Amino acid sequence: MPELPEVETVVRSLQPDITGEFIKKVVIQWPKTVADPQSLKIVENQPIRSVERRGKFILLNLDSGSIVIHLRMTGRLYTHAPDETQAPYVTAVFHFSSGKRLHFQDTRKFGRIYFTPDSSDFSRHLGPEPLGPVFTAQWLKTRLNSRQRQIKPLLLDQTFLAGLGNIYVDEALYLAGIHPVSLSHKIPGKPIQKLHRAIRKLLGDAIEAQGTTIINFQHGDNRSGSFQHQLQVYGRGGKHCKKCEALILKMTVGQRGTHVCPACQVLYN
Ligand SMILES: [Zn+2]
Repeated sequence: MPELPEVETVVRSLQPDITGEFIKKVVIQWPKTVADPQSLKIVENQPIRSVERRGKFILLNLDSGSIVIHLRMTGRLYTHAPDETQAPYVTAVFHFSSGKRLHFQDTRKFGRIYFTPDSSDFSRHLGPEPLGPVFTAQWLKTRLNSRQRQIKPLLLDQTFLAGLGNIYVDEALYLAGIHPVSLSHKIPGKPIQKLHRAIRKLLGDAIEAQGTTIINFQHGDNRSGSFQHQLQVYGRGGKHCKKCEALILKMTVGQRGTHVCPACQVLYN
């Protein structure tokens, strides 16, 4: 599933492509893509003022409100014409008055589009941005220590921190030397500082590499990200740790496949 760096990459490729375009109509080709198709009527004849990311969501900001898009597992957005193999999976098309079209292609059809009259209202349900000014080491320490939850599910909780998913949480916890089932209130200050640094660096590097392509993440004109070559633990179950030669374990934490080096990652409980 696309996480913050992948969604950021999509947003950056869309910005020069569709900012300023007037929406003529939206054609929904798979009904479930939009919860309330009537609500999308309001977007017609409005220009896209800006394209931005909030957590794992893409916002197309209009004069009155925003179109919110969640790619989920396999959603893709592009303005070139879909080829024959892609066409059956296009679930929605934005037609612009310039003649350009924005296609939402979604093989597994879990992706969703909806309209919100107030994007700050939508944003209120999400935690802070890990690359934004609110997310400091001190913020993380205070918030982790005031809860009593396993660290991995807590970092995946979008109301706690917005944008992280399974891949980058496993990587960040490995870099910080924290075992994923550690309890948040038992983790000392030093490893929390390391975790804060690891999250920011990881996301920055992954954006630089235009995301991680594990299954089928693609953006823009069929381009792929390359951060998968820099992954340390994710997808490396049964292989040697790159730091200590122990074998990377694959276990289940909060119903998610989780990768951990039992020697490098300390369990705080
Ligand atoms: Zn190790």
